[in-house]
Amino acid sequence: MSRNKTHKNRALCFVLILFCFFSSFYARNLLEEEEESTEKATQTIHVSNATWHDFSRLVDVQIGSHVRGVSDLKRYLHRFGYVIDDVGDSRNFSDVFDGRLESAISLYQENLGLPITGRLDTSTVTLMSSPRCGVSDTHMIINDDGIHTTAHYTYFNGKPKWNRDKLTYAISKTHKLDYLTSDEVKVVFRRAFSKWASVIPVNFEEVDDSTTADLKIGFYAGDHGDGQPFDGVLGTLAHAFAPANGRLHLDAAETWVVDDDFKGSTVAVDLESVATHEIGHLLGLGHSSQESAVMYPSLRPGTKKVDLTVDDVAGVLKLYGPNPKLQLDSLTESEDSLKNGAVSWRFLSGNFTGYVLLVVMILFL
Ligand SMILES: [Zn+2]
Ligand SMILES: [Zn+2]
Repeated sequence: MSRNKTHKNRALCFVLILFCFFSSFYARNLLEEEEESTEKATQTIHVSNATWHDFSRLVDVQIGSHVRGVSDLKRYLHRFGYVIDDVGDSRNFSDVFDGRLESAISLYQENLGLPITGRLDTSTVTLMSSPRCGVSDTHMIINDDGIHTTAHYTYFNGKPKWNRDKLTYAISKTHKLDYLTSDEVKVVFRRAFSKWASVIPVNFEEVDDSTTADLKIGFYAGDHGDGQPFDGVLGTLAHAFAPANGRLHLDAAETWVVDDDFKGSTVAVDLESVATHEIGHLLGLGHSSQESAVMYPSLRPGTKKVDLTVDDVAGVLKLYGPNPKLQLDSLTESEDSLKNGAVSWRFLSGNFTGYVLLVVMILFL
């Protein structure tokens, strides 16, 4: 009996040591992740350009206040399609936080998947300070399928799409970057197009002639003649037009990366992630409010997001129908799916302490 008790005590000690070790390991990881994300948040907030200002001092500004910088925020929201003021000219926006701004913030929060408060909380202001796609959010229609109530994908008004099963694309030989070879850019776009071609019955063929290609891709700087000037480093990264326009433009001022090596840069942007997103627009998809989706409008520098989620695939399938050879295994499941290993790991790691306690209880009950 006493021998059994000793064994039990030793087992208890062993489990408690294990628990302490893993808890501290987990806490340290959490702390590091937190520090890293805080560092990234502050890194992304210091660059300023035509659309993107340091909005950090507007955190917690209340409705009715008059604070310098509110007019910049109004111009930012106006730029991305949010109705801000009766004044047609955005240069005349005032610094007053009025009811219209509150409504616009609420709609922004809804479109970006944030809690809808109409307030300038830290998460809202941080997201507004992050680089993003230049395509507006609010001219899009929400998907009209009453069955898929959890869908986050959207379309352009009128749901335009290509009525062809083969589209040609060309990468401009003149509007290019001097630090990336055309082969490097081609490889990236081949991979990005293949992601979409694997799920819908549309083939993409690379051609040389930009003038005759259905889809025209190039790097452009500043005002480049389509009414949507780029704004320099970060801010808006790229834009693409709805079918059947076919133009996909990338901001030449960005530090584009094709080899996953961001070299610790605070402004480096993954080309394949942005290419995959913009091709979604070329096909007719609008922005998704699901953060994990490729079609989410914002992308943090130094990160990569190239795998279509269930939400991206569901959206494009409704426009084009399935590829008969659809490879389900090639998809990355969204966060609400249990099939994704990474998601499962996140779930497990997020509940690690709970799992240890569960093991302890099982051992001693
Ligand atoms: Zn976009
Ligand atoms: Zn353009």
